[in-house]
Amino acid sequence: MPIEVANAIFYASVFLGVIYGSRILEKRWPIADVPGAEFRADWLAVIVSVGLEHLLAPIAAVSAGAIASYAGLGWIKLPTEGYWWYVSLAIVVVALDLYKYTFHRLQHAIPFLWAMHSFHHSANGITFITGARHFWLERVLSDAFLPVMAILFRIPPEMAVTVGFIFFVPDACAHLNVRIPLGRYVTWINNPQWHRIHHSVQLEHRDKNFAAFFPLLDILFGTAWVPKPDEYPATGLVPAERVDIINSVIWPIRHLRRREANRGLSLGRSRR
Ligand SMILES: [Zn+2]
Ligand SMILES: [Zn+2]
Repeated sequence: MPIEVANAIFYASVFLGVIYGSRILEKRWPIADVPGAEFRADWLAVIVSVGLEHLLAPIAAVSAGAIASYAGLGWIKLPTEGYWWYVSLAIVVVALDLYKYTFHRLQHAIPFLWAMHSFHHSANGITFITGARHFWLERVLSDAFLPVMAILFRIPPEMAVTVGFIFFVPDACAHLNVRIPLGRYVTWINNPQWHRIHHSVQLEHRDKNFAAFFPLLDILFGTAWVPKPDEYPATGLVPAERVDIINSVIWPIRHLRRREANRGLSLGRSRR
């Protein structure tokens, strides 16, 4: 069997195994009941966004390559001898977390970015796969124009893979629909309850808990909402939206039109 086919089968099995494992946990200890229609809408949104991102990845790579050849790659060469490997790994994890936190705050603050990021927040029922639900152009643009980490750090490939694995746990698993009673450790590492506050429909939770890895960043920068033990709010946009295949492709246009329509409605109401 060719090595590429063997690799593809291996990664597909791991992927399906992780999805299957997440479903078992979500059925056993759910935070909230996610109706079948919401779950299917989430899957559809993920398939459209991941498909288009992969289709356009070569274009993003050309742009990122041009920027990298202009700016230069790996400005900072981190030491990797002996225990320095672990020190460098920690530096990259903290730097990536800071970058993700900053970009995420901008996604909420800049209307052009929110028009795309609101697609992620349109999930009314959050499950493991919601973590992969992002508007397709958002990923393409950030890959094409913001190769920040590659420009900043020169690290060996196996360290890059390790960073990917390390981030998988708090970042991707933050969307698990699983009740994990962490008690006072809820502020130690990003987790489903911490991130659920970020997706909350409640006004007091708006623009809180941006962190991908360390909630400490939210605490330091004044965006933390430490949830009470039983605080698991409803999630989604206000008013709620339901995505289908068309608006998964044209989301920002549809989203902005809906916002204008809602603004018109509330103005009409306030005049009466
Ligand atoms: Zn967000
Ligand atoms: Zn999220």
